[in-house]
Amino acid sequence: MTRPNEIEDLVRDENFWFDDGNVVITSGTIGWKIHKSVLSRSSPAFREFFAVTPTDGIDQRYGCPVVILEDHPDDIRLLLRALYDGRHLRAAWARFNVIAAWVRMGAKYRIDDLRDGGLRRLESCFCDNMYQWDLVSYEPPELRFYGITLHWRDCIATVNLARIANTQSALPLAMYVCCTLDTRTLLNGIEYTRGRVEKLDEADIVRCLDARPKFMVLQQQIVDNLARVERYLDGYPDIGDHAHCMRAFRRIADAIRAGRPSAWNGDPEGGKYDVLQSWKPAIEKEGAGLCELCREKIIAADAEERMKVWLQLPKLLGLR
Ligand SMILES: [Zn+2]
Repeated sequence: MTRPNEIEDLVRDENFWFDDGNVVITSGTIGWKIHKSVLSRSSPAFREFFAVTPTDGIDQRYGCPVVILEDHPDDIRLLLRALYDGRHLRAAWARFNVIAAWVRMGAKYRIDDLRDGGLRRLESCFCDNMYQWDLVSYEPPELRFYGITLHWRDCIATVNLARIANTQSALPLAMYVCCTLDTRTLLNGIEYTRGRVEKLDEADIVRCLDARPKFMVLQQQIVDNLARVERYLDGYPDIGDHAHCMRAFRRIADAIRAGRPSAWNGDPEGGKYDVLQSWKPAIEKEGAGLCELCREKIIAADAEERMKVWLQLPKLLGLR
């Protein structure tokens, strides 16, 4: 936050320009005339800034002091919406850009409830529970869970937000999803609207590139383990009762060995790293004829094999 010596005429924001405001904040060419008390009440950072900054230097055009912020105008709008119209914080659903602004601005200006509310929603998608992740990722490329909808590719921005907010919880899964992006996107980042680019820092890119071959090896191990059909028939007194099931297991094994149709992001290469993705679609498609007991066995095996990887995720990604 700085005080300008000279600023050009500002474009007045249409929603947050109050005639009785007592400070103008600006970013680029846009200005918001708002109330110091509203910012100070929620944000220790603004409170301290206003306390040490003299209230003289009134800009005659606006009738109050002007403060330049370095934040993206979209983030400022979303911050003001949260502070002035707090009910939006409890809105049932929010898009990723809204949640990202809460975390970014909440962390920067020390508005803890804003940051934590955003993190809770992010962490419901990039979660620490594999079964929840199966639900979150049910309709790719959209991910949705508690009060948030985001796109698969928002994983890069999520890693950066977790770094900014200094939290570990969303990090392993968000970084795992980064590994399944096409390499160009992984290296260059994602361009959002109005010139904002989200890119991983070099250390995190290296972590992803190092993890990918490990995921490929583990994926092959899972395929081999699930395709070993004898494992499902252990313990049956009479295998002959499950002759239908044996044929279905073989069809499923062939489908699993043939691999996934493609990655979620449409990149035919990306699927080979997506080791956590369930084989349930192949099981359902080829599993006609399985008895209920055999079906349960192979569904459980799919979860069990993926769980082994899930538990190692932070280590595989070089996060601990
Ligand atoms: Zn059976």
